[in-house]
Amino acid sequence: MKPPIVDVITMGCSKNLVDSERLMSQLESAGFKVVHNARRLTGQYAVVNTCGFIGDAKEESIQMILELCERKRQGRLLKLFVMGCLSQRYLHELREEIQEVDSFFGKFDWDGIVRQLTSGPASEAHATPRHLTTPPHYAYLKISEGCDRHCAYCAIPIITGRHVSRPMPEILQEVRWLVSQGVKEFQVIAQELTYYGVDLYGRQSIAELVEQMAHIPGVEWIRLHYAYPTHFPLALLRVMRDNPNVCRYLDIALQHISTPVLARMRRHITAEQTYGLLATIRREVPGIHLRTTLMVGFPGETDDDFRQLMQFVADIRFERLGAFAYSEEEGTYSASHYADDVPAQVKQQRLDQLMALQQGISAELSQGKVGTTQRIIIDRREGDYYVGRTEFDSPEVDPEVLVPAARRQLRRGCFYQVRITKADEFDLYATTTT
Ligand code: SF4
Repeated sequence: MKPPIVDVITMGCSKNLVDSERLMSQLESAGFKVVHNARRLTGQYAVVNTCGFIGDAKEESIQMILELCERKRQGRLLKLFVMGCLSQRYLHELREEIQEVDSFFGKFDWDGIVRQLTSGPASEAHATPRHLTTPPHYAYLKISEGCDRHCAYCAIPIITGRHVSRPMPEILQEVRWLVSQGVKEFQVIAQELTYYGVDLYGRQSIAELVEQMAHIPGVEWIRLHYAYPTHFPLALLRVMRDNPNVCRYLDIALQHISTPVLARMRRHITAEQTYGLLATIRREVPGIHLRTTLMVGFPGETDDDFRQLMQFVADIRFERLGAFAYSEEEGTYSASHYADDVPAQVKQQRLDQLMALQQGISAELSQGKVGTTQRIIIDRREGDYYVGRTEFDSPEVDPEVLVPAARRQLRRGCFYQVRITKADEFDLYATTTT
């Protein structure tokens, strides 16, 4: 008899994806076939792993739930489960408003889904491997949950609670298991990466963790995401410099540069300290690529604050930059203490100006790569090209490298030396040199 199928749909970020992968592995060991493709739903059962971070993301998650409710009404779905950040945050409201859903779970009790589907116990979450949904050569590695910082605009601590680091031996064991599955590239993720270990070991331990990961045979690339600037662990920079398999890449959300705005955001850092930190990072890790996230339109942001932000972006020339406009989130400090006083039109104008400036900088930096030799990993074949990434490119968010497929057959998950021949607005083009 064919095993029953469960469609697992992940909304939101890579941290959610790791939870979905763990759930999928538990469902498989309980005898279900699992599918992770929101565009092609075929299962008798479905699980939506929701995002509850900001307005748009919440909207998308609710839309997905309602789509599946419709599928259930049409008799094409037996049971529908919802888990993740949106239901962690709005459990009672959702239960009341969307009664077609069989059960709602939060961020940490989703193994209840396995129990309901099997009416039997689920295995211990962390010890169970994952059903990887990424290309087999890379995986996300979640090292902690929650956040102890209380940035004024952020709902994450409301959803995920306090920072909880995973024990280092457990993470290293997972890395070894992932290597045994063929994973070479590790996207290290958390809500707040640099806080790793403070709760468990009484001190920031991210440098030690990354160094131990770098010594595991088979680990080719380690890429770090979601760093926080205040009390940045400088020891990490030595680890990045001295271990060639730690990518010279750092995703560090800075949000703003004006000291009064940073203070109202409760980021506990000043403009001067931020400039100083970035100068130290660039000096200590030559060639590092910095990805950051900036916010415009935070309550009280003046023209001069925004002018400083533009100057900051022009000064630092981030290799990768994302930006978004402030949106008031209920339950956050800023929602209860500040008026959302920057008009939507002004927010949009500032966002457009900032991204236009960054687009010019990105184009110049990409152009500067033409003629250089880079090591890339191949992710896939797409039409006439193989698509790969350098150590400076995180999957899904950063530029890619396109290599003509006509010349030579390349293998997915393998590394190649290439020479960059051209740069367009988004991607680089290259030919292999080996
Ligand atoms: S550090 Fe990040 S996750 Fe934590 S409160 Fe600030 S913005 Fe939110």
